[in-house]
Amino acid sequence: MPRSSPRKKPAVNYSDDADVEPRAAKPSAAAKAVANIREAASKAKAEVVPKRKTEPVPEPETNGEAPRAAKKRKTKAAKDADSMPLAERTAVSSLKKAMYIGAHVSAAGGVHNSVANAVQIGANSFALFLKSQRKWDNPPLAVDARDSFISGCKQHGYSAAAHALPHGSYLVNLAQADEAKAAQAYRAFVDDLQRCERLGIRLYNFHPGSTLGDARAAAIARIAAQLNRAHEATKTVVTVLENMAGSGNVIGSTWEDLRDIIALVEDKDRVGVCIDTCHAFAAGHDLRTPAAFKSTMDSFNEVVGAEYLKAFHRKSPYELKAPFNSNRDLHANIGTGFLGLRAFHSIMNHDAFRDMPMVLETPIDRKGPDGKVVEDKQVWADEIKLLESLIGMDPDGDVFRATEKELQARGAAERGKIQEQVDKKSAKDAKKGSRGAGGKRKKKAETDDESE
Ligand SMILES: [Zn+2]
Ligand SMILES: [Zn+2]
Repeated sequence: MPRSSPRKKPAVNYSDDADVEPRAAKPSAAAKAVANIREAASKAKAEVVPKRKTEPVPEPETNGEAPRAAKKRKTKAAKDADSMPLAERTAVSSLKKAMYIGAHVSAAGGVHNSVANAVQIGANSFALFLKSQRKWDNPPLAVDARDSFISGCKQHGYSAAAHALPHGSYLVNLAQADEAKAAQAYRAFVDDLQRCERLGIRLYNFHPGSTLGDARAAAIARIAAQLNRAHEATKTVVTVLENMAGSGNVIGSTWEDLRDIIALVEDKDRVGVCIDTCHAFAAGHDLRTPAAFKSTMDSFNEVVGAEYLKAFHRKSPYELKAPFNSNRDLHANIGTGFLGLRAFHSIMNHDAFRDMPMVLETPIDRKGPDGKVVEDKQVWADEIKLLESLIGMDPDGDVFRATEKELQARGAAERGKIQEQVDKKSAKDAKKGSRGAGGKRKKKAETDDESE
């Protein structure tokens, strides 16, 4: 949700350019887990991706764009440190299934920087913000940023069309009923779609919106109407609805919401769904055991339709800290939260998810030696390898068991803390509920959570 509390910094900051502190050196849980796996199974070894032959990139238009990308403020040394490779990319052809795992990387300084940031962490897919996600007014896409993005994708063998998954702005609510605000939301939305088309990107992921207290059916109809209009104004980009975690006014935390939006979209080829594992779990779709995973996917296929699944925030092997069905969206690192490693094993070995972008949105903030919070991108680099290592792994084998146990142990304290908060809140809610408290309380709960 866009309305996260101010104390929380967004997981990925488009415009913040000042993160020049060195990374913390502590190895992450995933790194240790990966080390275990490598040692025991000796099969998670990454193969370097050669400069592969590239996918065709659509020729973009050149008119009407701003001349130059913003200048960078970083020193050369800081830039070099920032771009040091943290992991080599795994050749997808070397995996037992063609899973394209990546992360939501920074596009600070221009969209083209997302490519280098993806390469740095060994990602085979990536998400990015196309412009500042917390501002209405943004400069147009710069010609040189666009050209660098396209040439960067070509050079590094990324298919922008298949494996780049931009994330929409948190400000945009396509369900907005207020005419002026709806127009503003539409402009920002369609501008993003146009940026996608100029960059050769085919999938665009966004949060469906909020009813703001209005009737759900009317709000859903407004979303669909905005999508229909945006589809007409563009040519190729597929608008990908993300399932949500929230309760109350949030649209998209049930498969039925997504189905109802899609039902009203005229061009069905231009709409899809990105399943956020974290949001799904928080909204009551269990994934923890193979049977639960299967029944969640069966219900998705039955209600929404398998053909609409376009990305997994495999997108996100997001992982959840908050317990099942808590409607809270707090992210933990892979394997350490309430959604354990077995869930990710199920995801990584599910045939239907092949070839889709699968983007990590796990937190990477770490306290540096000086007490300052820094982004530790090594976490992503390691989690990508961890997830890749799960492909074809025997979930009943010693390697998997040991890794699962170690990661769960690392997250135990944090899980205990969150469970306690949730229990307290439910007890409080139960009390209030018996006195007939209304929607205000719910709305407050939504604002507490992280938002990707
Ligand atoms: Zn997400
Ligand atoms: Zn999101």
